[in-house]
Amino acid sequence: MSSSKETQPTIFVIFGGTGDLNARKLTPALYHLYLDGWLPQHFAIIGSGRTPLTDEEFRTKLLDDINQFSRSGKADKDKWKEFAQHIVYQAADVKDAATYKKFGQRIDEYKKEWSVQPNVIYYLAVAPEFFPTIASNLAKSKLASDTTCTRIVIEKPFGHDLESSRELNKLLSDIFDERQIYRIDHYLGKETVQNIMAFRFANALFEPLWNRNYIEHVQISVTEQLGVGERSGYYDGAGAMRDMIQNHLLQLLCLVAMEPPVNFTADEVRNRKVDVLRAMRRFTPEDIRESAVRGQYGAGWMQGEQVPGYREEPGANPKSNTETFAAVKFFVDNWRWQDVPFYVRTGKRMHRSASSITIQFRDVPHFVFPPETAESWQQNRLVISIQPEMSIRLQVQAKRPGLDMMLNTVDMVFDYKGTYTSQAPEAYETLLLDTMLGDQTLFMRGDQVEAAWDLLMPILNSWQGRASQSFPNYSADSWGRKWRRRSSPATDSIGLRSRLMAMNKAPRLHIYATPTEVLTGLADYFVELANQAISKHGRFSVALSGGNSPKKFYELLASSSYRSRVAWEKVDFFFGDERYVPHTDPESNYLLAKKALFDPLQIASSQVFAIDTALAPAEAAQQYTQTIEDYFGQKQARFDLVLLGLGDNSHTASLFPHTPVLHETGVGAKEVFVEEKKAYRITLTAPLINQAQAIAFLVYGADKAAAVQRVLTAERNVEEFPAQLITAASGELQWFLDAAAAALPNGQK
Ligand code: NAP
Repeated sequence: MSSSKETQPTIFVIFGGTGDLNARKLTPALYHLYLDGWLPQHFAIIGSGRTPLTDEEFRTKLLDDINQFSRSGKADKDKWKEFAQHIVYQAADVKDAATYKKFGQRIDEYKKEWSVQPNVIYYLAVAPEFFPTIASNLAKSKLASDTTCTRIVIEKPFGHDLESSRELNKLLSDIFDERQIYRIDHYLGKETVQNIMAFRFANALFEPLWNRNYIEHVQISVTEQLGVGERSGYYDGAGAMRDMIQNHLLQLLCLVAMEPPVNFTADEVRNRKVDVLRAMRRFTPEDIRESAVRGQYGAGWMQGEQVPGYREEPGANPKSNTETFAAVKFFVDNWRWQDVPFYVRTGKRMHRSASSITIQFRDVPHFVFPPETAESWQQNRLVISIQPEMSIRLQVQAKRPGLDMMLNTVDMVFDYKGTYTSQAPEAYETLLLDTMLGDQTLFMRGDQVEAAWDLLMPILNSWQGRASQSFPNYSADSWGRKWRRRSSPATDSIGLRSRLMAMNKAPRLHIYATPTEVLTGLADYFVELANQAISKHGRFSVALSGGNSPKKFYELLASSSYRSRVAWEKVDFFFGDERYVPHTDPESNYLLAKKALFDPLQIASSQVFAIDTALAPAEAAQQYTQTIEDYFGQKQARFDLVLLGLGDNSHTASLFPHTPVLHETGVGAKEVFVEEKKAYRITLTAPLINQAQAIAFLVYGADKAAAVQRVLTAERNVEEFPAQLITAASGELQWFLDAAAAALPNGQK
């Protein structure tokens, strides 16, 4: 946030100098500020903790920390030597009043040595229970009485609820001026987050559209793959709502929703953010059920490793009611945002770690093109990716090159990596520098914190008073409960999930609000698998399915959003099944994939393994079996991914009800005469499909709901419901569904 390099002589007193936060974030940040020339000539870092350490031992520890956690890798020997001279250690217990005398003496020594009045920054990197103790002792020892030169930095969590945050604010404001208090929300220091304001207020383009007239809804999502691990002691008293939504996600929401500030001063910007929090619609007991969802992860698999459920984490309460996933629908009641939903969600043990904000614009008022031109058309979106990708992409519609008029989505991308060669600073670098400069723009003011607590208290109280009966209700590595854009027809996808768990079948279900989101979810999964396989064994083998849903999926893969995310020349394409028609026939699965995928991506013919329908059906199947065997050579025939659809009669690939191929035990391809189609098909056999590393069903639309229910929850009856044959021998089996396809028939649970 700072724009000048004028830093004053500064002493950092780090309470919790031996702790995790200092190791991972503070020391690497200070070291980079030093490398980049932001630290003044006179600066000192006094680390503190109870552990008895000499200065030298403390420095050695910090060097290890930098080598492990710094964004630029191992420390430069000479630079580290210079930097380390500024670091000392003071063993001390924060509860002991004598401790503060020692700090006072150290500070006085530096003052004398430098002959200046330095800034003194007290950084409280300790458990929140110590915030009041340290603040009071600093006051008693008169270490913070100079309101212009002394500052106190408070880590999250700031209070546990509205009452405790008020108490803490009261205590701090009795001792310090508000301009001395720096309440950290490290999200605000992230480059992409700061860029939200730059994007909105330094461009004439967006602000006129930034309102209810053009924006349909906003989604803010922060997901993590990590579970709670060893931290359940802290986490169990907090949960996703307190740990993430009360601070980080609501701050992101404020940046999206705030009015333009008159200028860029700290109080002006923070006033505009508080305005948003004050305008947010309050939750009545009745709308909490409709507007807020909670979840807790159960056991599952993450990247090939079995991981425990939240209640089985070390030290966790086996009956814990703490949510590890939370999603809330907010409204901001003002002229700009009336009735525009802000969907906010966060969760642990999710499929991917990613933070992003999606601004979904409204539909065009009138669609002038013929409907068939718009198969992969979607509303405009602005997607702000915060981490791990740092980019802002505007998704617009364009004409696909070719003689026919076809619309598809293309991205206009601002990507940090592609645009700038220098590494973005870590959030803590920005925030520590701002603390030195006395710039509070990116810090939370007392009233902001209280307003956020005030908003969430009804939900927190309601959840606390009502133990969830369904916990754990999502498995590790899932997308958790998909947020639904509107009250969707899915009565309760969690009900479906728990029934599956009870049946011990547990394929992973990914349920999305809309078909477009299903396609994107599957495409992300495809990209992930492809990149994993290519980095592991150089190539990615996928068996495609036919039909209309995959067509849209293929078009998405070929769109500008995905085409650059996979090394397509390393992907080999097979077919899960084929209609017994020439490759030029509109019914041909090969033709469909060729048009939608192979041609747009310029896939070489040597990468496409089509089923030869010019041969007799039995011969075609036999030859395809041979092709597959030749491809895998000595190894087991194991596709990296088999994509499958689901027919409304519960068939998948060309495994139709009551056909002999359902009993096929051979691993390969087989011909089958399908009575109801009066035609031959060639299909991969269930044993071959089940051998795959990954199997993904793609199913959307309400007309598929009954089939989904039968396949997933009815008694096993493969004659009637052939898709039940697909159980994944050792790989993973996933279903990508939209809410409509996942819906239980009315009234059923
Ligand atoms: P931590 O690893 O448990 O460290 C706690 C620190 O407090 C240690 O240096 C410990 O030093 C010191 N300490 C404990 N009791 C003390 C006492 N009586 N007197 C003096 N020092 C004492 O905790 P952390 O993860 O660094 O978290 C610190 C704060 O940052 C917490 O408020 C946390 O919520 C917040 N935070 C942390 C992270 C993170 O990434 N770690 C992220 C966001 C916010 P000794 O053991 O040597 O006494």
